[in-house]
Amino acid sequence: MKIVIPNPGGTAEEYEAFEGTEHEIVFGEFNRASGTQPSDGEVIEMCHGAECLLSLQASRQVMEALPLLTTIVGSAVGVERIDIEAATENGILVVHSPSFENVTGVSEATIGLMLALSKRMKRKEARIRNGEWGQRLDRGFLMLGKTVGIIGFGRTGTGVAKRLAGWDMTLLGYDPYVPDEHFAEMGVERVTLDDLFSQSDFVTVHVVITPETTKMVNEVRLRSMKPSAYFINTSRGEAVDELAVVKALEEDWIAGAALDVYDPEPPETKGPLFNVDPEKLLLFPHNIAASHASRLGNLQLAARNAVAVMGGTIPQEYVKNPAVLPRWRGAKAPG
Ligand code: NAD
Repeated sequence: MKIVIPNPGGTAEEYEAFEGTEHEIVFGEFNRASGTQPSDGEVIEMCHGAECLLSLQASRQVMEALPLLTTIVGSAVGVERIDIEAATENGILVVHSPSFENVTGVSEATIGLMLALSKRMKRKEARIRNGEWGQRLDRGFLMLGKTVGIIGFGRTGTGVAKRLAGWDMTLLGYDPYVPDEHFAEMGVERVTLDDLFSQSDFVTVHVVITPETTKMVNEVRLRSMKPSAYFINTSRGEAVDELAVVKALEEDWIAGAALDVYDPEPPETKGPLFNVDPEKLLLFPHNIAASHASRLGNLQLAARNAVAVMGGTIPQEYVKNPAVLPRWRGAKAPG
């Protein structure tokens, strides 16, 4: 089988799952040479005769031009740049690669953001750099006894809860698609979205983007938070109305916020987010969770997923379009 990686990362370690297989692996040079993404035309050219494309993006045009393509493996958690609808219509399976390391990175970073906000780290650091001692100023508060509201209780939401288990905090969760047993097992109280927003000292978002979760955090929700509370989004920008966050901070509906993700990305650097007091709003370039381990973990999982599917084994937990399975182009693949 031919597997194409148009925009490869770097080290051979990332693709060790291909070693010893008989697949033809084709690496593009785009990332190293120019830092740009290959065009659709370039991807189509590279993928002639390919069964599998390993990439973070794939358009309808690419899929329709490649009749032998059966599988697209996204080499990360998010597959927003892969046209899933077009894939399903064309009988192409889409699989993603949310590695344990990546999930751990988001979970750890989310708690880091809670600490940075509640301990007022940015303000204190700015003060000393500005020549002020101000030791008695900028008191933060203890996490102890506070309430954390987790929206979306999948991998990363659960990772946050798991790590906070020993912090003597109250954990609330909202996710209509997760069974009660999982909440109970993780020591998280299942609540309504209204209660989560109004009772939490930290609200942290960990949803996937669907029509239901798009802009689910809006003015009404932010207004219902405590004025002392903090809001954190490390999921996807589409889940949050950014202008409402700006308003919430400027009008003191909430005490602070941290954003790692935006809609669109990157955000307009002269836009409203950048006019908010930088000590109240912490902004990161969608890399708060990044680590060498996460990147390697994602790429290794992607390569393993590609080898599995090409061998006829579908990694069910990573399939993004299960609806395609009854008429999947690769159903007659060997193995
Ligand atoms: P996941 O699929 O394991 O969990 C997402 C959860 O959202 C699921 O449990 C699902 O039931 C829930 N959900 C769906 N609709 C909902 C709704 N209406 N209300 C509440 N919950 C709802 O995904 P994950 O791996 O935990 O990732 C979560 C998000 O974080 C994704 O959007 C992902 O792309 C993003 N992410 C960001 C980074 C980063 O670098 N900042 C890294 C990894 C993941």
